[in-house]
Amino acid sequence: MERIPSGVYSTRQLIDAYGRKRFNELIATGNARQLRRGWYLIGSPPGDIVDAVRRGGVLSCVSALRRLGVWVPGEKNHLHVRGNNWAVRNLRGPFCKRFGRPEPEYAVMDDVETALQYAARCLNDTDFIVVCDSILNKRLMTLEQMQYQFRNAPKRTLALLDRCDERADSGPETVIRLFLTSLNVKFDLQVTIDGVGCVDILIGDWLIIELDGWEFHGDKEHFESDRRRDVDAHALGFTPLRFTYKQTMHTTDVTTAKIHEAIRAGVHLRPSHPVQSSPLTRGTA
Ligand SMILES: [Zn+2]
Repeated sequence: MERIPSGVYSTRQLIDAYGRKRFNELIATGNARQLRRGWYLIGSPPGDIVDAVRRGGVLSCVSALRRLGVWVPGEKNHLHVRGNNWAVRNLRGPFCKRFGRPEPEYAVMDDVETALQYAARCLNDTDFIVVCDSILNKRLMTLEQMQYQFRNAPKRTLALLDRCDERADSGPETVIRLFLTSLNVKFDLQVTIDGVGCVDILIGDWLIIELDGWEFHGDKEHFESDRRRDVDAHALGFTPLRFTYKQTMHTTDVTTAKIHEAIRAGVHLRPSHPVQSSPLTRGTA
């Protein structure tokens, strides 16, 4: 008999795919276990999806986006679940909300488009832009598709989309980019510098900001090459500032204050020591 892959299925899905007789057998033999009315578990699907369905909804919002490979800030353990119309009225949740009525449930986990609509109401402005940047960077949606998704959302949400940038491939880059935009200082992302390589952010002509994109950045090899890059950059007259994931995401104020201090001191405007000429090759890598 055909083996059914691990997963959470609705009664309808199981009957359509395998017939009523097999469905009854699955229940009788305990191979399909009821999670809640109309939904069954077979094998050992991911725990967050099981929890979401058990709670009366589907995995959505930030939790679904994380599972879909989007860079998502915040706590991994907090499960984001949305309920359908019935669940929102009758169950305790808590359920994530979107602008407008809840979507019907069509799968146990939302796609990027639907999950993003819910994330828009769960995340603060910066974190929402972080998530949108990552979706654009991974080409999971275009900006036009996002604008369409939020066509009925408050103007404020639409305005946040104007601040997105597909070049930022991690939360820390977005956070620092938004800070620099607020300062009105000249900067560029993903700049290639001869003799150094591609740096995350270049402020003015001489201040380099390098950011670890992930909480656990790296092995020894990375550590060594990062240091070598800093030495090379310094030799060419640049001032490199490097921040860990924790410094950017958990103590953002301290990190932005350090960058601000460097800008106020004019570090971005002149080389750190006399050099012949700027080796800068502008352009995206
Ligand atoms: Zn949520």
